[in-house]
This record gives sequence, structure tokens and C-alpha cells, in this order.
Amino acid sequence: MADKKETEQYQQIDLPFYKNEIAPILPDKVLDFHTHIYIKDTWKSAPWRENAPGGKYMVIIQDYSIEDLLYDGQIMFPDKSFNAVCFGMPTPAVDLDKTNDYTIQTLAHPGLYPLIITGRGLIPPDQLEEAIVHKGFLGYKVFLNWFGDDYGNITVADMIGPAEMKLADRRRLIVLLHVPGAERLTSPQVQKDVELLSKDYPQAGIVLAHCGRCYLPDEAKRAMGAIRQLENVYLDTSMVMDPTVIEIILDHIDSSRLLFATDLPIANMRGRRVYVMDHWVDLVLEGYPDSKFRVGSNNMRATFMVYEIILAIRRAAERVGLSDELLRNIFYQNGMNILQRVAGKG
Ligand SMILES: [Zn+2]
Repeated sequence: MADKKETEQYQQIDLPFYKNEIAPILPDKVLDFHTHIYIKDTWKSAPWRENAPGGKYMVIIQDYSIEDLLYDGQIMFPDKSFNAVCFGMPTPAVDLDKTNDYTIQTLAHPGLYPLIITGRGLIPPDQLEEAIVHKGFLGYKVFLNWFGDDYGNITVADMIGPAEMKLADRRRLIVLLHVPGAERLTSPQVQKDVELLSKDYPQAGIVLAHCGRCYLPDEAKRAMGAIRQLENVYLDTSMVMDPTVIEIILDHIDSSRLLFATDLPIANMRGRRVYVMDHWVDLVLEGYPDSKFRVGSNNMRATFMVYEIILAIRRAAERVGLSDELLRNIFYQNGMNILQRVAGKG
């Protein structure tokens, strides 16, 4: 990472912006609730190379180790302690045993919290419980049984079943779920399925990745009423950079249910997720690999998407009049509260 251009960009653009706009609202410790770590050895195939359906959906680097994550945390939050919830890549292109074995190595680093990638029937219940109780996983990142945006007719119930959820309920585990389907959390079916999970397993900490994949205000507006009453359903802010989305969320649910999250390594790109018509687009500096819904240009200044997520939260908090303390909690304490609920860890 440390070539001359990179160092210049960091010293002249990222760091001053961080010091002026980002650092002042953050607590001393930051918890990123959604990060991926993986090494080359965990890939079975590289879907973006093989023209698989959806394979060009989100092209990322092949190798993002624990050390890379810690390095990014240090670069992006130089005066803070960086903590993160970590898991591998939940795609069919990855060897799940290998990626989970790698993830558990995070336990050697205080402040990293591993989730096991699993899904309906993927790991026998006794083995899953063993991984939670003896290995130290704090819950699940639910496996996505598709490539990119090729969801087919997959439902939440196809992704995670009663065996996994009963264990999550009993041990108060985190269940980090990327809801399926083109309609995201605006789909009545998805909303009904999330409500069922929440009501049937009230002790599980159900976290919807990417705010239920609502990147656009219109989506947030149609989705958030459905989770208002579901107290054990939380939202992670990974890749959500629109302040109006966060504002709508804060109008519907208590801020304690909003968790700062990034989706590193994707959010270490410099740029911003915007929307055009009815879909998001990643507007980024030139030099990143080609990917669907990604537009590169050097005709702008840009910094880490991680900072754009923080800015969106800050701007929304200002609009709804959230106190500084409740705003700070979004970046650390809200997430720690659910991690500490996991049975035997609190
Ligand atoms: Zn992710």
C-alpha cells in the first residue's frame, strides 16, 4: 500500500479530513461490526474470472489477512483503538472450513470478534455448538448460497433454519444476515421472515447487514416500519453512505439498534456509494478492478468509503437531534452490548 502516490493521498487528503470531520465525533474505541478477512488459500475459485452468473457483482482483492485489517484500522483511525467483528467471505467460491479456521485465528488479537460462516444444514448442530462453545465464535455470518446478485428465489428460510436458530436463541448468539432478493428488506416476504426469526428466537441478536441492504432512501422508507417493534433486530451500516437512509432509520428505531460497520475490505476504496435512478453505484477513484455498479474517475477528490459511512451517520444524527453520547455509542457501545450478551462471554 505504501507507494509514493498512496502516501501523498493519505497525508494530504485522508488524514486532514479524518482529523477535521471524522475523529471529533468518535469515541476512543471504535467497533466495526462487519469486516471480512480471508487468505488466498480459502478460495475454491475466483468467480469474477470465470464469468459465473453474478461473478462481476462485487470484485475485491483475493487476499485480506487479519494483519491487513488491523493495518487498515490503524491507518483509518490512527488515534483510536480499532475493534472489529470478523468473518470470511460467505460465498460458494470459498472453502467454508478453511475460511472459518482462518477466522478463528482472530482470537489471538484482542478486540477482534469472530463469527462462523454457516447456514441452513451446512454444519451439523453438535459441531456448530462445539465451534461456539469451545472454539470461541460469537455467532454466525449467514452463508449466501449464490454468486453476486444472482439470488434466484432464495428466501431467508432457505438461508438459516431452526437448528441454527435454536442454538442462537439458547446461547444469545449474533446472527448477521444479508437479506436475499432484489427487493431487499422492502419485500413483504423478507419482512415476514425476519419478523418470524425475531419472534421465534427472541434471545438471538439478529443483525441485518447493510441496514437490510437499504442503500436508498426510498428503500429505507418502505422497509423500516417492518422492524420497528422487533427489539432484537439490529442494523449494521456497512456500505450505507446516504444520510437520508440513516435519518429514516433513526426516525423508526432506537439508535441503540444501529451499529457502525463498514464491509472492509470493500470500504477501503476511496469514493462514495451514491444512487442513480433506483440503484446504488460506487463512484470511486480510478485504479480499482472493474465491477458491476462501479464507476471510476479521477475527476474528483475522494477518501475512504469508511469515512463516508461515518459522515452519513453524523449528518443523520444532526438532523434528528441525536445527543453526542448516543451518536458515539453507535460507533462502539451499541455493538459491544450485543457481543457481551452472548452466553458466557458477558
Ligand atoms: Zn460483507
